[in-house]
Amino acid sequence: MSAGTLIQQLRERVGGPVIGPDDDAYDDARTVHNAMIDRRPAAVVRCAHAGDVRAVVDAARENEVDLAVRGGGHSVPGFGTCDDGVVADLSGMRDVRVDPATRTVRAEGGATWGDFDTATHSFGLATTGGIISTTGIGGLTVGGGIGYLCRSQGLSCDNLIAADVVTADGRLLVASERENEDLFWAIRGGGGNFGVVTAFEFRLAPVKDIYGGPIFYELEDADTVLRFFREFIADAPRELGGFPAFQIAPPLPFIPEDRHGDVLSAIMACWAGPVEEGERAVQPFREVAPVVADAIGPMPYPMLNSAFDALVPPGLQHYWKANFVGELTDDAIAAHLEHAPRLPAVNSTIHIYPVNGACHDVSPDETAFAYRDANFATVIAGMWPDPEENESNIQWVRDYYRATAAHSEGGGYINFMADDDQSRIQDNYKANYDRLARIKAVYDPGNLFHLNQNIKP
Ligand code: FAD
Repeated sequence: MSAGTLIQQLRERVGGPVIGPDDDAYDDARTVHNAMIDRRPAAVVRCAHAGDVRAVVDAARENEVDLAVRGGGHSVPGFGTCDDGVVADLSGMRDVRVDPATRTVRAEGGATWGDFDTATHSFGLATTGGIISTTGIGGLTVGGGIGYLCRSQGLSCDNLIAADVVTADGRLLVASERENEDLFWAIRGGGGNFGVVTAFEFRLAPVKDIYGGPIFYELEDADTVLRFFREFIADAPRELGGFPAFQIAPPLPFIPEDRHGDVLSAIMACWAGPVEEGERAVQPFREVAPVVADAIGPMPYPMLNSAFDALVPPGLQHYWKANFVGELTDDAIAAHLEHAPRLPAVNSTIHIYPVNGACHDVSPDETAFAYRDANFATVIAGMWPDPEENESNIQWVRDYYRATAAHSEGGGYINFMADDDQSRIQDNYKANYDRLARIKAVYDPGNLFHLNQNIKP
């Protein structure tokens, strides 16, 4: 079938706009967050509702063309777009409806964490979500979901109660503990392999204002900070979230001007307990080493979850690598200390997320997310503006990754992994992989949903 006929067929079937190469909106519609991804789909369908999603899935299957599913478009490997195929773009489906009586929320599959947090915050409620407000709840939740609240609330996927899922045969199924339980198990960590989630239902916890923000230290003190953090966080109160990081000091008013551009070590803190107890809870972070800059204080939870948006605008080049870490050993810390000082760009960062606390309450086989014994999830997030510098930045990420991989588990968090990490997928799911492959064979035997960290049927 020609691209023109496919577009015609889609326009007859869906309510939302169908954008093809001849349309003015095409370049905007084919663009995803990572500017390194430059793909030209035959059509981008801005789905208006679950019915449109079904129509796109049917059209892709019947015409045997690639199908990309896009929530927030943040996938670093660019899974939210494709060459020649069809994109089911959910960015028009962002309604978020809170039920304060049951402390639950129903959010459409294209909502961002900004949409989500704003809606739930007005009721003094929240759940674990991404630390950048423009990331989609879709891709993040089906891959697991790590954020400031995960020590107290678990992963984003742990807070999922139910989901509406369009499967490869075009059916709309409810997945929950009571219906299509195997599908529900698989979409909690198994990524976009099993269908398109058109709506997520989450449980919420009372979180309104938090006590948090970044605190920066000299790079020379990174060793002390990391050794302290690994011991401290092992049994710190669960309300205390946040993570150590390395970062080039951005030109922000709370950082002394003469330090802008220096590589510093940091802790991004988030105390989500009673806000008046926050100062005491983060005091150890203020005492561990001399402080270069401190912006920790009380603020609305959505403010922390959008505080670093400006460092990651659309249009940067991205190349990321990730590891799960059992013990953050002295040797692992030494590997960080060797490579972090060479941070090449102000947008790039290294985050060492603690994934203990409530994440460990869920057993490894309870959801698809298998690494319930890991204590940290590390991401080496290479992000820089100039495509001319791709080679050197990618090399820095790879060298850093290789050095830390020697002190890490086999798998890495699926949502932080690169497109050249497909060989690590089985490692990521460990004993859960075979069950995922069996469920994939039931719901997507033809592997229609293959533009993801792919689980083969
Ligand atoms: P998309 O590119 O739209 O989709 C990514 C994948 O998810 C695709 O395979 C797609 O098919 C699938 N998908 C998307 N929506 C749906 C849906 N509704 N139903 C089924 N499948 C779907 N991760 C964290 O855990 N915590 C963070 O704090 C965090 N911060 C990030 C910050 C930035 C700047 C970036 C670029 C990424 C961050 N991530 C974080 C990683 C993030 O979880 C992944 O990139 C995730 O895939 C993004 O989801 P998306 O919907 O925006 O992506």
